[in-house]
Amino acid sequence: MSNPNNVNDNPAESTKSKNFIYEIIDEDLKTNKWGSKVHTRFPPEPNGYLHIGHAKSICLNYGIARDYKGKFNLRFDDTNPEKEEQEYVDSIIEDVKWLGGDFEDRILFASDYFERMYQWAVELIKKGKAYVDDLNADEIRSTRGNLTEPGKESPYRNRSVDENLDLFERMRKGEFLNGSKTLRAKIDMASPNFNMRDPIMYRIVHDEHHRQRNKWCIYPTYDWAHGLEDSIEGITHSICTLEFENHRPLYDWFLNELGIHHPQQVEFARLNLSYTVMSKRKLLQLVKENFVDGWDDPRMPTVSGFRRRGYTPESIRNFAEIIGVAKRDALTDIALLEYAIRDDLNKHAQRAMAVLRPLKVVITNYVGEEDLEGVNNPEDQSMGTRKIPFTNEIYIEQTDFMENPPKGFHRLVPGGEVRLRYAYIVKCEEVIKNGKGEVVELRCTYDPETRSGTGTSKKKVKGTIHWISAKHALKAEIRLYDRLFTVEAPDADKEKGFLEFLNPNSLEILDNALIEPFLKDSKRGGRFQFERHGYFCVDTKFTTDDKLVFNRTVTLKDSWGKTS
Ligand code: ATP
Ligand code: MG
Repeated sequence: MSNPNNVNDNPAESTKSKNFIYEIIDEDLKTNKWGSKVHTRFPPEPNGYLHIGHAKSICLNYGIARDYKGKFNLRFDDTNPEKEEQEYVDSIIEDVKWLGGDFEDRILFASDYFERMYQWAVELIKKGKAYVDDLNADEIRSTRGNLTEPGKESPYRNRSVDENLDLFERMRKGEFLNGSKTLRAKIDMASPNFNMRDPIMYRIVHDEHHRQRNKWCIYPTYDWAHGLEDSIEGITHSICTLEFENHRPLYDWFLNELGIHHPQQVEFARLNLSYTVMSKRKLLQLVKENFVDGWDDPRMPTVSGFRRRGYTPESIRNFAEIIGVAKRDALTDIALLEYAIRDDLNKHAQRAMAVLRPLKVVITNYVGEEDLEGVNNPEDQSMGTRKIPFTNEIYIEQTDFMENPPKGFHRLVPGGEVRLRYAYIVKCEEVIKNGKGEVVELRCTYDPETRSGTGTSKKKVKGTIHWISAKHALKAEIRLYDRLFTVEAPDADKEKGFLEFLNPNSLEILDNALIEPFLKDSKRGGRFQFERHGYFCVDTKFTTDDKLVFNRTVTLKDSWGKTS
């Protein structure tokens, strides 16, 4: 009998086949490699906002901890003072929480381990496994060798332990200029694996750190620091992306030499998403050069961008589930992400009518005013209905009328009939134009027997369109988004550069839209379906007390109003 509370008793029964990492963990539990412990972490560098690739990593790492009743740490890999900022730390904490990654009280910082790392480096120097090198970065690079030739040993490689200890201490004290010395591991300049050719462990960087201020002027490299961070925290499975696969021997080498807790590094394929870029450097460039209105611009592939755009954490978690975890790099179709959010919002979003580009319609034989009934969500009857005011003056979508329609156009045409959603069938009797020949108003008549739900008429028409009562309409600004780039893989063409492929029409602002009056008190971030137009949310940045701004989260795939 399986006992769901015992992590050793194949806890992931239901999720076992989820991916190869679960198989590795199941095996480790079977062989008692870490006892019954499963401990993962998400280790961002606070040098930018999180993107959807990071979200995948969070869902994976946190999901494992949750499924095995283990632990999940949020750890900042803050080892590079030049690019890191508190603003990024704050945004990352907010984003991980929003995604549901539960790190409890464990917000950890690599920089808090600097002293221990330093002591471990001293230990390696004493073992003759590390040395201070006076070559500069260029010289180190040019003596690394290549695929066919081994690297050249540095002339400083065989310094005595005492000299190394003295120099390393003086590096720490700030006696040397940036770049003038490094601490390198003494491994093998002829190793077929470049990462093992005496990799750099410390660089001199005289710069203020966002947390440590000026306490340190030597900073550990990723390769040196990362395994130590994992080890200190008692991580069991250190999950990272594939480009670190050939760093694993080095990860293992450091931990073996020190003889300390040695987590298992496991690599998986990073997420690449079509029609966007994911490198933080490129995202920063989009922000700095004002191609977008910030890291949280709704067109950005950042977690904060998706949040502002109206995505839910559930939809992003479902997306991560759908795409799974692989061992080989691939390009994921952004349509899968759009599917995930549509699926979620379809179930939960309140429906409403919105006219994006209004055309006035006067119903000449209608007198008075009445409330009609609209369904709030056909997928969820418990969401009930709402009242929609109807009068003799309404607005419809400009595109729902055509004077000279092509075949198959089932909306309004001169002399033709159409159903107004939740209301009556109307007939277009007259088209009024301005001096330039543009249609500015329609005169229609309505058939009182065709009232939705209660009318006695059996009359049927092919098209149904949405509308808003002129007197009750609420003005809003609506922002429609297209992909930020015009090609699937904007960073594939190294010569041209990704900015060449920016979509000049990725944002369209409609400042004259009209929406149902009940939307007046919508909360910032509130999500709706505007029938036939897609899912929208109230923008958190540009909405003011006087102006509602909506972002289109995603279009509708299937819509009841798609009549042509
Ligand atoms: P960038 O190269 O854009 O700066 P990064 O990998 O350097 O990204 P980190 O802050 O170091 O950014 O990443 C934190 C964690 O997120 C790492 O464990 C990394 O493997 C993971 N990660 C980063 N990008 C992706 C991605 N596209 N897909 C999956 N995981 C990712
Ligand atoms: Mg990184």
